[in-house]
Amino acid sequence: MTTHNVLDVKKRMILRMGRGRKNVMSEMRQLDARQQLLVILMEECGELIQECSKSLRKGELFDRDSFKNEVGDVYTMINLLHEWDVISWSDIEEREQHKRHKLSRWSDLITDHPLQYSKLSTGTNWKDGDGGELFE
Ligand SMILES: [Mg+2]
Repeated sequence: MTTHNVLDVKKRMILRMGRGRKNVMSEMRQLDARQQLLVILMEECGELIQECSKSLRKGELFDRDSFKNEVGDVYTMINLLHEWDVISWSDIEEREQHKRHKLSRWSDLITDHPLQYSKLSTGTNWKDGDGGELFE
């Protein structure tokens, strides 16, 4: 194979890769609005997870701009879930009550549960599955 042929092959490979990338992009564009909504929601949730980790790693729990930005991005996506009829506020509010009740039992975030776990125990018993209930 001559140098000229090698360059031709490389050029063709680059063109093919470029076309492949374009095909992937056009497939992404074929997602309907609700599918786009879920993809972007996933991305924003990932970005918020990253900012939570950075807040903990840096020991900066208050007033971090990048954290606030990601909370706002997720909040926007939740509002869009409602605007596109993917969720209803009543479903979310019902779930909020359920989650608050669980948190009142299994965390220190809400302090009105008479059987709050942290008041009864010295800690979470991870082996008995307590951790899973925390994050349900
Ligand atoms: Mg974001």
